[in-house]
Amino acid sequence: MAGKKEYVNEMVDTNREKIEHHVKEILKLVGEDVEREGLLETPARVTRMYEEIFAGYGVDPREVLGVTFDEQHEELVIVRDIVYYSQCEHHMAPFFGRAHIGYIPSGKIAGLSKLARLVDAITRRLQVQERITSQIADIMDEVLQPHGVMVVVEGEHLCMCARGVKKYGSKTVTSAVRGEFRTSAALRSEFLSLLKQ
Ligand SMILES: [Zn+2]
Repeated sequence: MAGKKEYVNEMVDTNREKIEHHVKEILKLVGEDVEREGLLETPARVTRMYEEIFAGYGVDPREVLGVTFDEQHEELVIVRDIVYYSQCEHHMAPFFGRAHIGYIPSGKIAGLSKLARLVDAITRRLQVQERITSQIADIMDEVLQPHGVMVVVEGEHLCMCARGVKKYGSKTVTSAVRGEFRTSAALRSEFLSLLKQ
């Protein structure tokens, strides 16, 4: 993938000059000298970063799963340790970590790499971790119509480190279950034990 940007927010591209202008204004308003050398390129760099970290807005998460049909496999499928990087919608501060998705197909399966693309489409926006978790579960449920889905998301939130309660290194864990995972404690513990291996 070197050199090729996989995700781009086209709104950011269109509004590049305006965004750069406003970043520069914020820097001035917090008391910075925007003419000093280290900051000259900062508004442009921040804008390029926005292009990437907000790339999810241009993607319909329902369309990235790329469903295929497979009548055979109706056992638990887990894709774990999907790394994500998102922005807390309350502070516009990063939070990041890993998402783990398990589901039991009912005829339809998704390409394994497509689950990572689903996570990207949902996390490359302003978000809260709770909504990321339930959106992954809901879209898996809607598009694949599996027997069940379970999603666990782990996140470290910089807004918790840098301000307010200042809790370094604490992790937030959220989970969502749909279908058979709701009713079966055995399924939930099978999923959780496979995450630990
Ligand atoms: Zn926050």
